[in-house]
Amino acid sequence: MAVFALMLQLPVLSMTFRLTYRRYRLAFRAPLRTAAGLWREREGLILRVEDAAGRIGWGDAAPVPAFGLETIDQVAVACAALGETPDEGVIDRLGPGLASLRQALAAAQSDLAGAPPLPAGRFLPVAALIPAGRAALPAIVPFAEAGFRTFKWKVGVGDLGDELGLLDDLCGALPSGGRLRLDANGAWDRRAAERWLERCADRPIEFLEQPVARDARGADDLLQGLGADYPTPIALDESLVDAGDLDHWLDRDWPGIYIFKPALCADPVLALARLAAAQADVVFSSAIETAVGARSALRLAFGWTGPARALGFGVWPAFALPGFDGPAAAPFIRAEDVERMNPEAVWTALN
Ligand code: MG
Repeated sequence: MAVFALMLQLPVLSMTFRLTYRRYRLAFRAPLRTAAGLWREREGLILRVEDAAGRIGWGDAAPVPAFGLETIDQVAVACAALGETPDEGVIDRLGPGLASLRQALAAAQSDLAGAPPLPAGRFLPVAALIPAGRAALPAIVPFAEAGFRTFKWKVGVGDLGDELGLLDDLCGALPSGGRLRLDANGAWDRRAAERWLERCADRPIEFLEQPVARDARGADDLLQGLGADYPTPIALDESLVDAGDLDHWLDRDWPGIYIFKPALCADPVLALARLAAAQADVVFSSAIETAVGARSALRLAFGWTGPARALGFGVWPAFALPGFDGPAAAPFIRAEDVERMNPEAVWTALN
């Protein structure tokens, strides 16, 4: 029976691959505070593909619930519908949306195609995540001593006046050459954003991320105006999560920064080609992936040839159980750290 099945498959083996997947639900070590409330666990699917030559590829499909796009259940249903031996054109036949699943399949197929190893010895800087509010102040010191020079601080969380008052203390605590990047996660209106941008102007602020919400009235023009009126660059994050957002902002010649989360981008290779063609200013950022997603996202970050801003990948260890995290937060991620990551271990741990 086994021999017969193999013979039946032979004529199409070069066109198809075997697809298996495992669904995961992993608790965070500590819940994350987001604009949508507390985020306690990460859900997704690890995809494993194997071709006729025995090559294996990996993908991590993990939508972010707070972004209100596809749900993990929709991803699981769509993945099951692909069958056990889809062919190479599988992505084109997926329904609309499903960016997380598309990129996972693309990452797995890229493994099958034999992606070249990353250049040994290369490394990229990483931003340290410091806690919101006053807790940021004591947190800077150990990060600075460890060698971090870029620090990301969530704002728009507490009272505006209190946070503005803390800004100078934080700037004073920065190491030599250190910079703060601020992320408001869309919390402000125009007046609040302008107050902050005035204050940021002559301080070591690398950029201000998403000062107003993507769905605020007139948000696009407001963001564009804020970017033109103040010297501190503005970075788009939530404004870039949906299909078509990237082209929309490229068409507008957005002069600021693009936060790029490979895990949530349907076709990250194509998106990066467009960003490169526009000579866009890009910050690679995590969506709190497992090691499988981290590996494919970081491979893309190492392939980016534009100016290298610190990676927004200082998120691990993120999971309560060991064995699922990407590279532990350190001032740099080296190419060797990415090559050393082991998708097979994640797969086995989910068994
Ligand atoms: Mg952000």
